[in-house]
Parts: sequence; C-alpha cells; structure tokens
Amino acid sequence: MCLSPLVAAQTKIPAPQEVLGFAPGEDRKLASWNQVIDYFDRLDRTSDRVLFETLGNSSMGKPFVMATISSPANLARLEEFKQIQDQLADPRKLVPLATRDRKAAELMRRGKTVVLITCGIHSTEVGSYLSSMLIAHRLASSTEPEIQKILDNTIILLVPSLNPDGVDIVKNWYDRTLDTPFEGTDPPELYHKYTGHDNNRDWYAFTQVETQLTVDKIHNVWHPQIVHDIHQQGAFGSRLFLPPYMPPVEPNVPKPIVTAYTQLGNWIAGEMRKQGFQGITTNSTYDAWSPARAYSHYHGGARILSETASAKIASPMTLKLEELRSREGYDPQKESPKFGPVWPGGEWRLSDITKHMTTAAFLLLDHAATNREQWLARFYAIGKEAVRPRRPGELFGFLIEPGPTSVSLLDILARGGVETTLPKDGTTFKVGRHTFPEGTKLVRMDQPYGGFAKALLEVQRYPNLRDATGHPIAPYDVTAHTLSMLMGVTVHPVKAPFTYSRQTAPVGETAGVRKEATPLKDAFAIYKSSVPAHDEGWTRWILDTRGIRYGMLGDRELRAGITVFKPGPGITVKYYVLLIPDQPARTLLEGYKAGAMPPEYTGGLGPQGVKNLRDFIETGGTAVFLNRASNFAIEQFKLPLRNVVDGLPRTEFYVPGSILRIELDTTHPVAQGMPKETIAWAEDSPVFEVVEDPNAMVPASNVRIIASYPVDKNPLLSGWLLGGDLIKGKAALVEVTMGKGRVILFGFRPQYRAQSEATYPLFFNALTSR
Ligand SMILES: [Zn+2]
Repeated sequence: MCLSPLVAAQTKIPAPQEVLGFAPGEDRKLASWNQVIDYFDRLDRTSDRVLFETLGNSSMGKPFVMATISSPANLARLEEFKQIQDQLADPRKLVPLATRDRKAAELMRRGKTVVLITCGIHSTEVGSYLSSMLIAHRLASSTEPEIQKILDNTIILLVPSLNPDGVDIVKNWYDRTLDTPFEGTDPPELYHKYTGHDNNRDWYAFTQVETQLTVDKIHNVWHPQIVHDIHQQGAFGSRLFLPPYMPPVEPNVPKPIVTAYTQLGNWIAGEMRKQGFQGITTNSTYDAWSPARAYSHYHGGARILSETASAKIASPMTLKLEELRSREGYDPQKESPKFGPVWPGGEWRLSDITKHMTTAAFLLLDHAATNREQWLARFYAIGKEAVRPRRPGELFGFLIEPGPTSVSLLDILARGGVETTLPKDGTTFKVGRHTFPEGTKLVRMDQPYGGFAKALLEVQRYPNLRDATGHPIAPYDVTAHTLSMLMGVTVHPVKAPFTYSRQTAPVGETAGVRKEATPLKDAFAIYKSSVPAHDEGWTRWILDTRGIRYGMLGDRELRAGITVFKPGPGITVKYYVLLIPDQPARTLLEGYKAGAMPPEYTGGLGPQGVKNLRDFIETGGTAVFLNRASNFAIEQFKLPLRNVVDGLPRTEFYVPGSILRIELDTTHPVAQGMPKETIAWAEDSPVFEVVEDPNAMVPASNVRIIASYPVDKNPLLSGWLLGGDLIKGKAALVEVTMGKGRVILFGFRPQYRAQSEATYPLFFNALTSR
C-alpha cells in the first residue's frame, strides 16, 4: 500500500515545532498544557523509547503526567528494574545477611541509574517545561552514540511540569499582556491554586495533590538515584547555579548524598565551562537545610538543582555587567572560586535559558550512564548504613505519644516511607520510670528512611553563620522543620539498647483520633490582595479541605465598601469577620504601583479601603490580622501598640522562620481549649508592646494580651533566633477593642504552610469567638 507523504510524516518521530507550531525557546512563545500533552502523546505513539502516562489530576483538574524514557529493551523490563531499586534501597530485603553484599553486587550489575527530571514547579520559570520537550525529542530520536549510552544505562523519568495548572495561568497572562506595557510581568495571582511558589516547600508535609502524586507514584515506586530539579532564578545574578549547595547541610542528609551532588554539580559546571558557558556559580545562594525542598536527600537520591537566569517570562532582555547584582556567596562581576568566568552582559533570551537547561541535563544523564555502577553502589551503601542496627548509646528511635494531631503526623511519616512499629495498641508500657500511654508508636532509626523521620522529629539547631563583616548569613528558606512541634505532638527520643516493659491495659478509646475543626458559625471572608500572597492561598487550602465556607474580598470590594457590614437599619449582613493573611503592610496599603500593572490591579486598599475597614470594625466587625499584616493594623488604626523589633538590624534581632515558645492566657476565648504553653511560627514577625500614646485612636486599656513570649525562658524551641532577650515578656497575640468591634493581631503565622496544627485552634477561635 502506498503511503502518501503526509501519512509517512506522521509516523516519524515529530520535533516539538511540528506539533507546537514553534520551537521551544523561541522568543515570546509559550506552549499550553494541552500542547505539551499532545507532544508527549505523539512521542509515545511514534517512539519505542518513550512511555507516556497520566498519574492523576492536578489541583485544578488537569492531567499530571510523566514520560518514562529508556532503550526499548529496558522499557520491556521496567518491573524488574523497580524490584532491583526496591531491594538496593532497603537492604533488609536481601536475606540472608551473610550473602547480602553478594546479592547486592549482582543487582548492581543488572540495574540502571534511575534519573528523575522535574520541570516547571515554579510556573513563571518557563524554560524548563519547554526544555522537557527538547530533552524528550533528542532522547527519542537521536542516533548519536552518547544518547544510545544514556538509553542503555539509565531509566529517565521525565515530569514536564510538577504544576500543570501554572503552565496555563502563566501562558494566559503572558499572552494577554503581550505587546502591552505589561509584557513579561508575573501574573497577579498565585500560579498554583493554593501555594504559588510555596509548592516547592511541601516535600515533607505533602499537603498538595501534586506533591502526593510525585511522592506516591514516582519517588516511592522508583527511588531515583538522581533528581534533576530544573529551575530559574532572578535575571540579575549568575547565569546558572549548580550544586554543591552552600552551607549549612541539614545533619540528616547522608554524607554520600553530599559527595554525590558535589561531584556531579562540579562536573557539569566544569564541562559547561569547557564548552564556553560563562557566569556559572556553585556553592552559593542555595543551601541544603530544609527537607521542604529535597525529598530525595532523605530517600537515597542526590538532588541536582539547577537555576538558570530568567528573562522576562518569554521576552528577551538586555543586561549590562554593572547591573548584575551579588547574591549570597559571589559577585557576578568578579571571578572567584565559586563563580566564573564572568559573563560580560548582553542579550538574554528564552533560547539562552533552554540551551543552559538542555546542556546541563544531557551532561547529567551522561554522568549517570557512564558511572552507572558507582551510582548504584552509593545508593546501596546509603540504604545499608540506614538499616544497620544501632549501637548502645546511639539514637534508637522516637516514641510518638497519641494526641489530637498525632494521626496526621503518622500519616505524613508513612507517606515518606517511614515504618512505625511496636508497641501494639491496647497496652501501655514503661521505658525506665516513664509510663507511656496506650497508642504510643515507635519509629526506629534502623530503617531506610529513619533519617527522614529524625529530621522531622528532632529540634533544629541552625548554625550561627556570619559573613566576613559579622552579619548573619540568611538561610535560603527557613530554619526549622520540627513537624512534631508544629503539629503539637509529644515525642521522646530513646537510645539503644531500647528496652521496655509492657503492661496490659484495658482497651479503651482509640487514641489519636483526628480532631475535626469547629465548623465556623459566623459568615467570614478572606481578604485577597491584588498582589498574590502565599499565606492567603494556604489559608484557603486549610478551609477548603475542611469544607468550611468563606467569602473572598479584594481591594476593589474593600475600597467600594459595599460588602462588609454589621446589621443595622436596612443593611444586609454579609460578613462578621474578615481575615487579612500575612503580607507586608505596605503591600496591603499600596498594592502594585500605578503603571506597574494594568490599572484594575493597582492601588491596594488605599485610604478609602482603610476607612471602610475601620467602619466595619467600629460598627461591630472583627478583623483578624496575621503576622506582617498586623503592622498594617497598628499603623493605619493608630493602635496603642508598638512593634519592638521593627527596623532592627539582623545583628540585633533575627528570626528567619523558626519555632518559638509562647504562653497563653487561656481565659481568653481565642485561647480556649489550648494548653498554657504552645508554639509560634515566627518569620519576619512583629512583637507587640502596649504603649500609652495620646495620639492613639483607642486607650491602652482596650488591649488584651492573649499570648506572650516567656519572661524567664529562652523563646527559641527550634531553628535560629538572634536577640531573643529583646522579646522576652512581650506580646505575640493581642485583641484590641475598637468601637463595637475588635481587631485580633497575630505576631506569628498560626497556620504556617498548613503545618502548624498546634496553633490551628487559635486561628479558628479568632474567626469564631466573640
Ligand atoms: Zn524555582
């Protein structure tokens, strides 16, 4: 049968431009998520090296997908390779012990390096999802020997976007503003339904469906030895960052992981420099502290983060050398051991971004293929060290006491591959003199992911890092991740040898039942600034997952002042309570500056919004301000309060995301049902002092302190705090009566990234109590 040229063309492996209508990397061209899916579907149909599948649905219902790429022979044996990975990851499965190493050696001979490449978690960093198609096309179609070597020796799991919804959110905004003064701006909404940029801070709490799909259906199935996570950084720094990460490294990251990312990152950087790439930095800016960004570091895989300099979304820009700005660890205008050679400036466009990304990715794959046995041997060594019996005096494990939130914590640990063992339900038991309640669980350290559990159950002591001038070096993200503290679960570390005596106890109520949030009786609304705020998104997630209804009010509604009212003659009540999430005071007031965005997004609350908000409160409404938003209330309502840490240099006071200790007045309705002492997540947080101010709108006697930092104890529980003495005895949560209504000011984040369940009751009480 004679095929027409058109039909013949359809059976050949298509290049991306044949499906998209443009080549990925072309200026001012973005693909929609449907186009990406179309392209990978075409690869799946035309190439015997590509399997493409849908793993589930994103937060907004789009297909969440992955391509598995390898030689046809390897693709036919995927189940066998999964088994090999599974046994090397957990050497307890290689029995008997006496032959463990011999069996492992045989598995290493047969196994392949498994490489997970993740793109597009941050949707304005458009280069990577576009590069995913370039990477897949070359792997699917090339006859080059180096590609054959990669296909024979590796299994590549390629996720074109960890955030499919964001692909279209950014493309729609970009296309809408193309050829306007706002071309190349970031969209005025979170590019993930709930978390925005914080979607890459969810790799230990696993709250979002995209995180859950990646962990459940990729990481935990395949245990990749290498995770290449492709990102973009700002436009004005280095052209490319590669590992090693700058200090500190979180102490539970195994040393062989540090060695692996150091060797591989340095090797890619070296090869790219040989090819003439400029402006590459290593060992700067990005640390390896928080497990929130690095699931693989606790699961046997090295994370190779790459951060290429951005342009203006898909629009080119021109940069002068003197415009380039220093970041932590290097100056892009000066060659140094961590940076070089200097990029002299010039045009920077999307094709530069995709070129850096694809070059680094193929070098990484080449290393994975060439050093296959070394990667597998290191992976096995990590597993073997994890499962070895603990020596006397070493940490044996943690006992987790039952409580209202312990089930959530145990669910999270289970999702991270952590096993909980003895003792069984229905017994109490004693360790030393301490009797533990029925339902207490034990997490042993001698299991593959014991280190992951340890990181989340122990206290973080962030090192006091200073630069040459004595200034504190900022962490890349935050400094604490003690999830047991955040969730209010009591845990006890126990040493080896672990012995306990079991006592039979009557089987009573199952302990550790998840506590349901109180349904909110009063109508309330969340304020949504035109400038997207992560805290607003996380708040919606917490409420949506509990089925709690709420309204949304933006700048326009508050400026119009038509929606928020207390009952009065002829007035329909819509909301009694308004929540203002964490956001800088100035952003709340001013929003985007005029001219920076289309006019409907600019201006913030403005003076009229402030006036309407005050009217709402004085006529009986409640306004709840979270963290930095509290500064807005103090300033705009002239409250008799002072933020005692306002404007202090970091050398005097610094708390970059830490868990602090607060004491509560439990007679206040907001603290009802809480223990006397709890935690507070502090991050750029105000600390309150009541002041007698003749210019204040209300007298100091209108202030009631609900929570304060202790007078005689160190406020720090986990993380990093400088200048803790300054806040001792100061207030962390206050209520101020204004007219017939009130404001409640949180000097911390009570629902931080949907993790701080310990303080959710304060949050919910603030929205309901009166
Ligand atoms: Zn990013």
